[in-house]
Order: sequence, then structure tokens, then C-alpha cells
Amino acid sequence: MLWPHARLRRPRNVALQTLVADARRERPESEAWLGLLESALGESEAGAVWEAAVPQPAVDRPVKAPLLFRATLTLDTRAARAWVHRLLKRAARAKPRSVDGVALLEAAVCQDYARIDALAAAAGTEPQALRVLAQLTALPLLLACGRALTRQLPVTWWESYCPLCGAWPVVAEYTGLERKRQLRCGRCGTGWAIPMLRCVFCDETDHEKLGYLTPEDGEQMRKIEVCHTCKGYLKGLATVRPLAAEAILLDDLKTVPLDVAALERGYRRPERPAYQLESRIAERLGGGGGA
Ligand SMILES: [Zn+2]
Ligand SMILES: [Zn+2]
Repeated sequence: MLWPHARLRRPRNVALQTLVADARRERPESEAWLGLLESALGESEAGAVWEAAVPQPAVDRPVKAPLLFRATLTLDTRAARAWVHRLLKRAARAKPRSVDGVALLEAAVCQDYARIDALAAAAGTEPQALRVLAQLTALPLLLACGRALTRQLPVTWWESYCPLCGAWPVVAEYTGLERKRQLRCGRCGTGWAIPMLRCVFCDETDHEKLGYLTPEDGEQMRKIEVCHTCKGYLKGLATVRPLAAEAILLDDLKTVPLDVAALERGYRRPERPAYQLESRIAERLGGGGGA
């Protein structure tokens, strides 16, 4: 059996290329992951396959359910498998053909770690690495959903998880002179305003229990919000205007030293997914298999 021999893409958007180059200069030690993220962003940019898969959110979903809850994403599965295999091959972590690409994508969209671990076991590969890779393979699909469904987001959203894909935020963004606080998703890039200061992981609002860590290099634009009740942490970033979705993903990778600093002080991000999406990936029948 022959796999379509398409190459991994790089982003063509100049602003995005600049951001990647900056990240590469600042974090040469993250090159392995950065190269993979760059490929995922390139794939996302060339994304007709992914845009065609954006579902219509279920109208009867519960009020607190994200847009993708129980949605069916109908994909050109041949192209999707080829993409997953290209990325896994580049990562050289798993024998690409031993992992079911569509099952991996579905598990990644749903943040179903037990299922990803089972796929890793079946392929004889390390589960932790496959969890991270799985998230990267799902980025083009999730970013396409993020772009296409913004207008359908609820006007007000008080939950701590992404109103579109159900993930925990990766950063709290403080924008403009008034420092308007917005939580940002590190998967689909969606932003949602949470005006009140509260812990996103356990809803603690007591100011005595909430604090900050500030970077040692005295960087004014960044801090780490911490909660003494659940020991959770969230990176914080001041921006002039809200960052593009892709910039949020790159920034998250670029600021790994902040994660390390938080972890060293005993803070962590929850292992459990914020919301069980229960989305499905179905095969688009009659979809052309162009690479
Ligand atoms: Zn999201
Ligand atoms: Zn908390």
C-alpha cells in the first residue's frame, strides 16, 4: 500500500514565519517541538481538508457544553491519516503505520488520554510523547474549527474551559491600557473574557488564596497566576492587542521556562481534561483524496 507522498509544510504567512524565527532564536533547546509545531501551523494554513470538516454545533447541547460537544467532524480520512503519519514520522517517536491516525485524531480532539495511551501501547511507543504529538496532529482541525465557529460562540461564557473545544486555557491575556483579561485556548486559539479574578481550575475567588510569581529576569509583560487552594497555575501575558491563535501556541512553547519555574515551586496544571467532548470523527464519503 502506498501513502500519498506529501511533504510537511511550513507556514507561508510572513508574520507567522517571523514568530517562528523568533521562537527558534530564543529557545534553540526547543527545536524538536518547535519544528513539529511549525509543521502543524503550516498544515493548518493549507487547510481545505480541515475546513471542510468543521461541524455544525448541536443545537440541543447543554448550556455549559462547548460548541464541539458531541459534534461529528466529517473528514477526508485518507488525507487526515496521511497528515498524522507525516507528523509521527518526522517526530520519529512511533512507527507511523502502527498508529491508527483517525483514532488518534479523535482521541486528541476529545483529550481522551486513556485512549491515546492505549494507542501508544498497541504501537509500542511511549504514551507521554504520543499525548503531546496527538495534540499537535489535532491542531489543524481545531484551528479550522476556531476560525469558522467564532461567530457561533455564546455571548457570555463564565466557565474556565474553552467555549469551543473544552480545553483549559494556556494563558490569561491582559490586553490594552485597561488590561482587559481574556483566557486563551492553546488548541483552537479561542479567547473568552473572564472579568473577575478567580482560579480557573477550582473557582477560588478569595484574594488571599490567589497570587503571582514574577519572572526572575524582571520581565514586565509576564507573570504566573497561582492558586494556593488547588496549587494550579496559569501563565499571564500583557499584550497591546489580542494575539492571533497561532501566536498563542508559539508563545506557550516559548515560555516553557515559566512552566518549569511553576512546577519547581510545586504548582501544576490539572491532568484531567476540563470537559469531556465526546466528539466523533466520521469519514467524508466521496471526498477527493488530493494531498
Ligand atoms: Zn479551544
Ligand atoms: Zn485553584
